[in-house]
Amino acid sequence: MQNKGILMVISGFSGAGKGTLVKKLLSEYDNYALSISMTTRQPREGEEDGREYFFRTREQFEENIAKNGFIEYAQYCGNYYGTPKAYVEEQMQAGKDVILEIEIQGAMKIKEQFPESLLLFVTPPSAEELQKRLVGRGTETADVIAQRLSRAYEESEGMDAYDYIVVNDDLDVCAAEVQKFVEAAKNEPSRR
Ligand code: 5GP
Repeated sequence: MQNKGILMVISGFSGAGKGTLVKKLLSEYDNYALSISMTTRQPREGEEDGREYFFRTREQFEENIAKNGFIEYAQYCGNYYGTPKAYVEEQMQAGKDVILEIEIQGAMKIKEQFPESLLLFVTPPSAEELQKRLVGRGTETADVIAQRLSRAYEESEGMDAYDYIVVNDDLDVCAAEVQKFVEAAKNEPSRR
């Protein structure tokens, strides 16, 4: 049988640099495919439907839940976010390692359904740096930033459930480290 790819979850505080890390992995290595989530949140400036997310209404999202179209979904700061099933299954069958950039509740659901998946939690080097990155992004209001920082604090309590915690200080080092974890995971008999 052809070896299937693995499922890799990347979680981390809003502002930890997950997006940059994912872009780096996709451009540096050819084993990955990125799952594009569906969300009910409004697009940020510069975001495009079908690229960052599939932006949908609550009604459309709930229809997809009813059709059993998600591997997992969760609510985060008042909006739905979910991983469409078909693409992930297709890409894994094709041997790709599929990246899911999702929050912690979704990550736990993935771990339950796919115990062989690899869970990474990305943190910035310090709390000050986290705040600086969130504010520096300039796309969120002060309220939303406060909500996301408080959510970061809650999420930090769930970090223990992850396989690895990766500090995103130097992007090149961080990406190389992740690649090493993925290769090691693929060589573990229990994950094949
Ligand atoms: P943002 O609004 O900053 O793009 O995303 C907010 C949070 O939702 C992030 O932690 C992101 O990783 C998470 N997220 C994005 N897509 C999904 C998804 O499909 N499922 C779950 N559970 N979380 C997601």
